[in-house]
Amino acid sequence: MLRIAMIAHDGKKAEMVAFALQNKEKLNQCTLFGTGTTSSHISKAGIKIKPLLSGPMGGDAQIATLTATEALDMVIFFRDPLDKHPHEPDVQMLMRICDVHNVPLATNPAAAALFLKGII
Ligand code: PGA
Repeated sequence: MLRIAMIAHDGKKAEMVAFALQNKEKLNQCTLFGTGTTSSHISKAGIKIKPLLSGPMGGDAQIATLTATEALDMVIFFRDPLDKHPHEPDVQMLMRICDVHNVPLATNPAAAALFLKGII
């Protein structure tokens, strides 16, 4: 089963829920992990997801660890490029780890939709 991590900055959470609903059938065939608040929004949309810590409290770092230990097949990370984030170092670290380990990283809904089409 495909293992996917899902993260959305606050300004992108509505887009993440819309994306999750549009791709509900495919996502329900995957094992999903998400940062705390993102997970709670996705669960409320009726999609099963394992919650990790909230992003600023270490959730992005947990997802980086899963990526580095080959426990994830794909990361969907809707970043908000128009806002500042206290955990920016963790954001950069997660993106770097995806590149180090050659794990697909989708940072917007168009890319995430293409990835899902290609994989499932
Ligand atoms: P959150 O974390 O889902 O707990 O809000 C996302 C983030 O990294 O900002």
